[in-house]
Amino acid sequence: MPVEHHPDHIITHTHDLHRRGLMFILSSPSGTGKTTIARRLLAEDAEIFSSVSATTRAPRPGEVDGEDYFFLDAAEFDRMAEADEFYEWAEVFGNCYGTPKAHIRAGLKQGKDFLFDIDWQGTQQLYQKDAQDVVRVFLLPPSIDELQRRLTGRGTDAPEVIAARMDRARAEISHWDAYDYVVVNEDLDECFEQVRLILTAERLRRKRQTGLIPFVRGLLRAKA
Ligand code: ADP
Ligand code: 5GP
Repeated sequence: MPVEHHPDHIITHTHDLHRRGLMFILSSPSGTGKTTIARRLLAEDAEIFSSVSATTRAPRPGEVDGEDYFFLDAAEFDRMAEADEFYEWAEVFGNCYGTPKAHIRAGLKQGKDFLFDIDWQGTQQLYQKDAQDVVRVFLLPPSIDELQRRLTGRGTDAPEVIAARMDRARAEISHWDAYDYVVVNEDLDECFEQVRLILTAERLRRKRQTGLIPFVRGLLRAKA
């Protein structure tokens, strides 16, 4: 919550100062631990929210409109695409998926952060549309053997799917240099801590701290 900057007001937390939110992108080769880190971040940090995509596919049982996806018909999706209302969109298995701008833009203004769990192509598109609000973090596995162990250990995929994921993982790794930060996920707690530190530091960037101007003005005006 932004506070009125009465000259005597004492700031005790940086949270007291209004800031613009950011778009926090986590990418990694499949199996590295991106989903694990993302879930923990969403659970432990009250200021970051999952980005909700729009899709033309039908809701699955239990899916909630506005939480899992914004479910749209094809005509509405096309209209939004034409009107440039998506940061990016793509057709996947015959359905359209996209990241709507309006919801995120409004949240950023209120100081909310949004977490994106997307690949390097999505990252590039988001960055092209809104570089100043984007923070790009890439997770790497400690070794190829360990990556294979994690994919196998997750127990969700057949061996041929794992082989295909290993090939894709190598392709993903080659895009490591399109990110602002790279963290090796060897020890989960350590990796999580480092990801949190990045988020904290990025929130403190002067350009995002829109409440600084009135605050500093108050400091300069105040008499001891
Ligand atoms: P991704 O979303 O990148 O595909 P997941 O988060 O699903 O990866 O993680 C893949 C598997 O590896 C999961 O079983 C997860 O519990 C495990 N895992 C994640 N991070 C670590 C780690 N640092 N050490 C050991 N296992 C991990
Ligand atoms: P599902 O229908 O299983 O929820 O998702 C199918 C695919 O759509 C997944 O591979 C997912 O990554 C992709 N997807 C979901 N949301 C978006 C989005 O906003 N943009 C793009 N480009 N792909 C998305």
